[in-house]
Amino acid sequence: MANRHDRLVIIGSGPAGYTAAIYAARAMLRPVLIEGIQPGGQLTITTDVENYPGFAETIQGPWLMEQMRAQALHVGAEIVQDHISSVDFSRRPPVLHGDAGMTYNAETVIICTGAQARWLGLDSEHKYQGYGVSACATCDGFFYKGKDVLVVGGGNTAVEEALFLTNFARTVTIVHRRSAFRAEKILQRRLFSNPKIKVIWNAALDEVIGSENPKSVTGVKLRDVKTGGLTEIPVDGVFIAIGHEPATALFKGHLDMTPGGYIVTAAKSAATNVAGVFAAGDVTDDIYRQAVTAAGMGCMAALDAERYLASLETLAQAAE
Ligand code: NAP
Repeated sequence: MANRHDRLVIIGSGPAGYTAAIYAARAMLRPVLIEGIQPGGQLTITTDVENYPGFAETIQGPWLMEQMRAQALHVGAEIVQDHISSVDFSRRPPVLHGDAGMTYNAETVIICTGAQARWLGLDSEHKYQGYGVSACATCDGFFYKGKDVLVVGGGNTAVEEALFLTNFARTVTIVHRRSAFRAEKILQRRLFSNPKIKVIWNAALDEVIGSENPKSVTGVKLRDVKTGGLTEIPVDGVFIAIGHEPATALFKGHLDMTPGGYIVTAAKSAATNVAGVFAAGDVTDDIYRQAVTAAGMGCMAALDAERYLASLETLAQAAE
């Protein structure tokens, strides 16, 4: 079992993690970034990205993450291929245990483990992910100008995504497994008054239908949950909007969280309820969930960690 001591350990390698690493490295904190199981995070499973500022041409999600990683290395961050399997935030400094047997004693920790869209788990849904099946209307809605799309879900996300998609799509069909939405009433009112949107109640997505050349979605098979009857309807895109799950299982019982499992941070800050432990990006955010907002929060967390370390040093000097 090996042990190391660092000033700052960043857990997670999405836009929040890499941005925190870039800022912390430039502040001479010698950050160590632990990449986790899916290096690059959610953007590595998307294709075209047109809304990350700074790129006039369409870029690819995986490429953007490679650039952020290269930039973090370039300015001096250390990137470690490891996965944290347990933490002890009651100790000073906090302790993190890696799968490979390393114990990280970190004066400060920034948690950027992100969140994952919840999927239905259908084989056909997986097959067309990135080719007509998406979990992010803000990211991919633009590609459906004048087309017909389907949204699955009945919460705020589903209704907001359906409304957003009407900016591009010719028609938006929202399919919900019950006969009432759980989304806020004000959103529902907007949805019901939008002539482009049609609602199909008591139905589940049974299968995404598509073609191979080019790989694209051509329709869906819907199952009536009451009768079991199947109906096929033609659509060009499918948006799964059945919620997100923050990757916070590791921190349960160690940090304050919302009922939905997101890490709570102080207002205008990345500070959690544990001194020296910060959180940034989708792991704290159930509203915006964008690469650029995650990157912004990663920057905030690095600046907060830098100030926290400086305050520790001031206290240590005063005690001498
Ligand atoms: P959510 O509120 O948990 O809603 C998920 C929806 O997906 C529900 O309607 C649920 O159906 C449906 N669903 C779940 N699993 C399903 C499955 N296997 N098959 C078919 N349908 C399924 O999730 P969310 O809409 O992403 O919202 C998450 C949180 O973020 C909420 O607290 C929400 O208020 C918040 N949020 C807020 C805003 C905002 O304030 N503007 C925007 C987005 C999200 P049932 O209804 O039958 O359970």
